[in-house]
Amino acid sequence: MERRHFIKSAALGAAAGTLVSGCAGNSSDAPAIQAGQPTLRWRLASSYPRSLDTIYGAADVMADRLSQITDGRFTVRVYPAGEIVPAFEVLESVQKGTVQLGHSASYYYIGKNPAFAFDTTIPFGLTARQFNAWAYHGGGREIMQGLFADYNILSYPGGNTGTQMGGWFNREINSVQDLRGLTMRIPGLGGRVMDRLGVTVQQIPGGEIYPALERGVIDAAEWVGPYDDEKLGFHQVARYYYSPGWWEPGANLSFYVNRSAFGTLPSAYQHALETAMIEANMYMLSRYDAVNPAAFQRLVDSGVELRSFPADVLEAARTASAEMIQEGTSDPVYSEIYDSYMAWLGASNNWFGAASFSYSEFVARMLAA
Ligand code: CA
Repeated sequence: MERRHFIKSAALGAAAGTLVSGCAGNSSDAPAIQAGQPTLRWRLASSYPRSLDTIYGAADVMADRLSQITDGRFTVRVYPAGEIVPAFEVLESVQKGTVQLGHSASYYYIGKNPAFAFDTTIPFGLTARQFNAWAYHGGGREIMQGLFADYNILSYPGGNTGTQMGGWFNREINSVQDLRGLTMRIPGLGGRVMDRLGVTVQQIPGGEIYPALERGVIDAAEWVGPYDDEKLGFHQVARYYYSPGWWEPGANLSFYVNRSAFGTLPSAYQHALETAMIEANMYMLSRYDAVNPAAFQRLVDSGVELRSFPADVLEAARTASAEMIQEGTSDPVYSEIYDSYMAWLGASNNWFGAASFSYSEFVARMLAA
């Protein structure tokens, strides 16, 4: 304990001189050598309700670890969607400094700039592993900051759902023609692609999907995957469960940090915050991979009928997606991100195709036999 305190204090002491007055306040029982370190209480606005323990829970994991690393000196209070900030206004709130931190999905903000989609996922884009490789080692995180700088925000990977399911349908989709006239709840770029394929697209918050399906207001809806979908009860009001969710092959959630507030932190606290965010990123994907298999089996056991999108649907969707995503490249910021993302996707798919995808294909064939 003594040694741990000494090492930590030595590391933090060097940064104490960078503090901005007004954000520091020392607890009275702290050892004298730590007296220069601030006690900070930050606020984080989440776009999610507490009930989604995987997505929402990643922000709690981050806050808990940050507090542990800093011996309780730098703490974050996590607020669920709507408590202090509406679900889809997290980015603006961090930008204005209403809260120092946010946890959200950047593709909610494609109305501000379509390039935000690349920070979450695009149809037929990177899987979770590929996204993390791009973000941490392929310059992806740095290149996204060119966009976020306009909003006084730093963004960091903050969890991933893994490949999502294709959603719940009350009629079978046997060809691309069957999409015409279908009414579906599907947000973001996936919704825009579905619209091009003849689907009537509806934007409905998560809590209102169940009654809309039940009453026949919509024929289909997508959410995330077995664990979250089961909680919302879609299997009780829809017959067919489709895969894959080609519009979200690896949806990355993001932590937003107000850039000015980050600049006031001692460097040790900046590193502590970044470390805690990396842990949250690891937590969410591994948590989904841990809880989805059992939820999937429960859904199958309850009589849900599994279906795969037919090849012509996937091919038409891929063509429409590529056209749509290419359309934004007249904007220089979008174009820079697009070039980096697409180059990474192509090279990464070549490698994953040789190893991971061919192995997965064999396993899937074996399971089906
Ligand atoms: Ca989804």
